[in-house]
Amino acid sequence: MTKTKHNQILQTFAATFTNAPFSVCWKDVDGIFAGCNHKFIAENHNVKSAAEIIGLSNAEFAKKLGWANRMILKMNSSDHEVLTTGKTISYEDRFKRKNLFISLLIMKWPIKDHKGKIIGIACSPIDISKVAADKFALETAKKQTELNTNFLKILSKTVIGKSITQRKSFEDAARYLISFLENLIMNASDRVFWKDRDSVYLGGNKKVLDILGVASQSQLVGLTDFDFEKKFNWPKGLAKSFRDDDQQVMQSGKPKVFEEKYKQIDGSEVTVLTTKSPIKDEKGKVIGLIAVSTDISDRKKQEQELKEAKERAEKSNRAKSEFLAVVSHELRTPLNGIMGTAQILRTRNLTSEQQEYVDDIYQSSNILLSLINDILDLSKLEEGRLDFTFIPFNLKELTYKIGASLKVLAEEKGLKFAIQYPENIPTNIISDPRRIRQIIFNLVGNAIKYTKKGCITIKVDCPEKTVKKAKFKISVKDTGIGIPKNKLQFIFDRFTQLESAYKTKTSGAGLGLAIVKQIVESMHGRIHVKSKPNQGSTFWCEFEFPLRHEKTRKKTKPPNKHLGKNTSAKKFKLKALLVEDNIINQKIAKIMLQDLGCKVYLVDNGKTALKAANKKYDVIFMDIGLPDMDGCDVTTAILQGNSKNKDTPVIAMTAHAYKKDRQRCIDAGMKTVLTKPISYEQLEKTLDDLV
Ligand code: ADP
Repeated sequence: MTKTKHNQILQTFAATFTNAPFSVCWKDVDGIFAGCNHKFIAENHNVKSAAEIIGLSNAEFAKKLGWANRMILKMNSSDHEVLTTGKTISYEDRFKRKNLFISLLIMKWPIKDHKGKIIGIACSPIDISKVAADKFALETAKKQTELNTNFLKILSKTVIGKSITQRKSFEDAARYLISFLENLIMNASDRVFWKDRDSVYLGGNKKVLDILGVASQSQLVGLTDFDFEKKFNWPKGLAKSFRDDDQQVMQSGKPKVFEEKYKQIDGSEVTVLTTKSPIKDEKGKVIGLIAVSTDISDRKKQEQELKEAKERAEKSNRAKSEFLAVVSHELRTPLNGIMGTAQILRTRNLTSEQQEYVDDIYQSSNILLSLINDILDLSKLEEGRLDFTFIPFNLKELTYKIGASLKVLAEEKGLKFAIQYPENIPTNIISDPRRIRQIIFNLVGNAIKYTKKGCITIKVDCPEKTVKKAKFKISVKDTGIGIPKNKLQFIFDRFTQLESAYKTKTSGAGLGLAIVKQIVESMHGRIHVKSKPNQGSTFWCEFEFPLRHEKTRKKTKPPNKHLGKNTSAKKFKLKALLVEDNIINQKIAKIMLQDLGCKVYLVDNGKTALKAANKKYDVIFMDIGLPDMDGCDVTTAILQGNSKNKDTPVIAMTAHAYKKDRQRCIDAGMKTVLTKPISYEQLEKTLDDLV
């Protein structure tokens, strides 16, 4: 076929697409631009007429539009793909124009002669940047593009080919094309309608006629949305909003996607996603609009159901968390009784058999306490309310302190226990010592639990440091039963216990590691594990902590080793008022304070406490949940200006373990807050800090 023939076909192609409602350009087999339609010119600000681009190569065209070299490569390779495969392709590209990102969906397909020989390339770029943000809209745009692709494929194969070979004239080809389009639009499953410049209906497909309850095309012509507002009793203002949207599209000359809601002939409410595009005449003047509406009511309903289900799930999860918090609080009060009594008993002269039984009670209640703490932490985690208090402290001292209490447990099982904290690494950091303690306790606790013989090692490393901060690696290594490779990924999930764990008959609820992981991540750290069955496991956490530099440091007192074992504890000659209503807790706190040397005056409600406060005390211990008053209110009254005890330190004793509860106590003027169950150590430290 000669070049002239090629040109003829390209010209026919041009005539077919000149007024198409989408942007199209075409090139010859050498990839040289041969023309473009009106829409293409309207959408490319740097192109004023088709003549400007005819004869340009991809590189020259890209330069004219100010596109990046990257885009030329893509243009060349996609042209090549169309020419060599003969297939229709589409791809997305994104570039910056005047500080705005433009997303284009580019579709290319071959232009063929009647024998199927490729004689050019057609290219249709669709600007999807406006809809890119809207997922549904994007989907719709893609769907439309797909539709266009198929449509154009058919067009280029049948219409163009046939128009050359079978059709006698251009008019004949045009008529064929029009009837083809009409068929496509009238039978489309989406609603398609078109209006004039004043938003008056000019036509609509079958779907639109059915939905609007209009018998024929001719009856639709001349109506407006205001007529339907009346007919269907649409909410006032809906027709106006439709007209405003129409006018916005026609004034801007650009397509836009809208989500619309209205009542149909059968009374049902429908939500549609409507793309409205301006229709322009040959000179580019907007003369109306065409709209395609997709019914998304089902999708909307599903979305709403999902939203409601999510809200219900969140609500019940909140209720569960609250329940857990309440249960943990309620358990804490009797546990205070058990643990306190056991502690007091331990300090009395018991036979070794009695001592052993008391130790068993104490240890069992300790396990119960850690379970309650885990449950409380879990409920806080679920609500995203896990609290942290970041303060300066000495990591080395903390590690050794934790180690000291865990060493006893390890040695009881015949395990060796080692701590490695190299001399040259920083010690003074800022973090939450309570949470670090919780992490190490959990990991070492597990290590002891799952190791029968060998050694447990806590190691602290500092792989990187600057003047202000340092990276730390805290690891816990054991020589225990190990974890199979395929189970490693699950052990940080809550309520996960491996089969082998049951065989070892260990205690635990499978919560520890889940909580540790969350705590570590909340502190912007990471936790890792490596393990080999029967060889042992290493868990390690990586953190970055700010460093604290101090010239002089307060020497911390060593803990009183005898406490809880005999009565030779330090004596504080203090006059203490104890406000507590629970009889067992009264007894425990009173005996412990007396053992520590205090003279204790006991009252069991708020009003009596206020009366008792007419006398001066050295310290006041205040329960919060009193039968007649809130302990915080009692405190505020005791500390007010003309009270004898306005400067007396008040210490809260509460079973409420939430940070907000602590804060309420501090706000009421209390010096510190002790969480039940209370211990000799806690009380001694508190009194020590006071004197
Ligand atoms: P649990 O309270 O059951 O110990 P965790 O969440 O702390 O719950 O641990 C989850 C599971 O991971 C344990 O049941 C155990 O099977 C396994 N596991 C944890 N630490 C170790 C370890 N050091 N050695 C072997 N298995 C471990």
